[in-house]
Amino acid sequence: MPHDWRDSVALTERQSLVRRSIRELCAEFDDEYWRTRDREETYPQAFVDRLAADGWLGMLIPEEYGGVGMSTSEAVVMMEEIAGSGGGFAAAQSIHGGIYNSVPIVNYADEEIKRNLLPKVAAGEKAIQAFGLTEPNAGSDSTAMTTRARRDGDEYVIDGEKVWISRVEASDYLVLMARTTPREEVDKRTRGISMFLVDLADAYDDGLDIERIPKTAAPAVHSYQLYFDGVRVPADRLIGEEGEGFYQVLDGLNEERLVIAAECLGLGEVALERGIEYANEREVFGGPIGANQAIQHPLAESYADLLAAKKVIYDAADRLDDLERERAGAEANVAKYLAADAAFGAADAAVQTHGGFGVAREYDVERYLREARLTRLVPITQQLALNYLGERVLDLPRSY
Ligand SMILES: Cc1cc2nc3c(=O)[nH]c(=O)nc-3n(C[C@H](O)[C@H](O)[C@H](O)COP(=O)(O)OP(=O)(O)OC[C@H]3O[C@@H](n4cnc5c(N)ncnc54)[C@H](O)[C@@H]3O)c2cc1C
Repeated sequence: MPHDWRDSVALTERQSLVRRSIRELCAEFDDEYWRTRDREETYPQAFVDRLAADGWLGMLIPEEYGGVGMSTSEAVVMMEEIAGSGGGFAAAQSIHGGIYNSVPIVNYADEEIKRNLLPKVAAGEKAIQAFGLTEPNAGSDSTAMTTRARRDGDEYVIDGEKVWISRVEASDYLVLMARTTPREEVDKRTRGISMFLVDLADAYDDGLDIERIPKTAAPAVHSYQLYFDGVRVPADRLIGEEGEGFYQVLDGLNEERLVIAAECLGLGEVALERGIEYANEREVFGGPIGANQAIQHPLAESYADLLAAKKVIYDAADRLDDLERERAGAEANVAKYLAADAAFGAADAAVQTHGGFGVAREYDVERYLREARLTRLVPITQQLALNYLGERVLDLPRSY
């Protein structure tokens, strides 16, 4: 199947190189591979290892720490290709954390941690796949978190609960967000939160319990509830400044959101591709179903929606370094909002095009639809993305 309509944005030389390399690599993992991971709910470790073997997990790690030293404009290409290869959002999720959780380490960790750990992460020998922010009583309102980290001599003692934390079993480390000062005692709710690099093997020995959350979308990539009961973390594993962790997260948020938008885009593109293929092949009433405009228009509409999202994503990724943070935030939220909706529209159109076979596992489009539905919920819900635009861009009053 030619990719012409998918290659609609002009790329730089580096972006083209990323696209070519990732496309070739992903072609080693066919639909059956991803279908099986989805059905058996098994983590795509072979896929992750394959990307790691070619150094792609070090995508955003500077060369001096053993990485590739690329940036958001290349990361959007990489993640669009991964999702668009047929691996969908599950494939993207299995790589995304491995790339993005090293960013705060690069930006805020002590030199010793960086020198020791980052080359191993880039080589795929150690994984920082898990990031722990969300809590049962603090979802979208993440500063309401109550997980506490209390200083005790050379250690911090962690107590509390996290929920929906992905890839914990595939990770050596967890980047954990916890309150070092309770919300009632800080002048701004965004203060008093700190970031820790938790060695998971030590934490399990010391009172960390995890429980998998059964789920329908992207079940190959597991998410967990985490229970911390007096887990001790050495004080030198505090990343950055005590109490400033939330700002450290915000620092890389726009980049990450754009890249997730690119993952939604890739998912929508592969769903649309499958819809087009089936619309051309399947004959009912003596002709291809794609000749019916009731079939054709939703596919064409999806193409238009995906292209609009793509333009915003690529344009913003290109200019990100020159944009003020507020402007970058606006574009990243627009990109994520448009791309998640476009992915959902494309997957839904692909399912409808397949008729009854739309729900047959062998055609994959039902898998894409489950995943596309998820993209409207994570890592930020569509409503919260709109809240950002309403309040921060349109200057409407804040409701909460
Ligand atoms: C598969 C999966 C993987 C995840 N992985 C991770 C992970 O690795 N690490 C991590 O920390 N978190 C993770 N999350 C958590 C994810 O980021 C949250 O689920 C998400 O931010 C929404 O929070 P919530 O589920 O608590 O929803 P809630 O905050 O409870 O919101 C429920 C609903 O109310 C709406 N709502 C709430 N407040 C408002 C408002 N003011 N205005 C309008 N609407 C509002 C929301 O949009 C949503 O529709 C994951 C979640 C899933 C499902």
